[in-house]
Amino acid sequence: MSMRFDCLTLFPDMMRAVLSESIIGRAQTAGILDIRYTNIRDFAENKHNRVDDYPYGGGEGMVMQAMPIYRAWQSVTQGLEKKPKVIYLSPQGKVFDQRTAVRLSKEEHLILLCGHYEGVDERVLEEIVDEEISMGDFVLTGGEIPAMALIDAVGRLIPGVLSSEDAYAHESHFDGLLEHAQYTRPPECLGKSVPEILLSGHHKNIMEYKRKESILRTLKKRPDMLEKAPLTDKERKWLDSIREEM
Ligand code: SAM
Repeated sequence: MSMRFDCLTLFPDMMRAVLSESIIGRAQTAGILDIRYTNIRDFAENKHNRVDDYPYGGGEGMVMQAMPIYRAWQSVTQGLEKKPKVIYLSPQGKVFDQRTAVRLSKEEHLILLCGHYEGVDERVLEEIVDEEISMGDFVLTGGEIPAMALIDAVGRLIPGVLSSEDAYAHESHFDGLLEHAQYTRPPECLGKSVPEILLSGHHKNIMEYKRKESILRTLKKRPDMLEKAPLTDKERKWLDSIREEM
């Protein structure tokens, strides 16, 4: 299984530099991820390669024009039997989370549109975009960093990108909880020891310990997540008793 991403951007070099490193970079070398970049400026069709203009009705900044983006999208989709889903990275979109990453990892091909300046002419958004996704309730200068975050989060879920599916199955947000604390060698440092049980080699006890630690950590850091977390009746009772003691 492999997954393709096409990024429509004014800054392909910025994205390529980041995404060719580390795990996502290796996944491309291995042919599991196929990440391509289309420079919207190549579709400007004017002498100065301009892709932005003043907003109608006045206001701050410049707006990215519809047609260069439309032509960039056409260049990616022409000849494809199935039109890939187009995601516009936007502060007005639904906020990205692990559930969305899992859903998108089922797609074979995604097109990611990165805006810049004050945004994008609405007409091309209406024409090509299927979904708007935001990285959070804040405003960035461009959609490249959100697109890279999305590719990283979705790409690492594609089989073969991480060494085993187990690598993310117990991670924060995967099962509605935060992950337990992690330790590595040495067993003692900074005057602190690794919890005894993790050194015991007793697999069942370790798994129980990690699960409890995961619930406790979620209670401490993100109690809002516990309402929807898939806990057993026994775990809910245990959690209630802990809350009473707090
Ligand atoms: N004027 C726009 C507004 O108020 O909605 C914001 C434009 S922003 C300065 C420029 C570009 O950055 C956007 O077109 C979008 O692609 C990207 N961007 C900014 N913040 C983002 C966020 N939180 N999530 C995803 N993309 C974002």
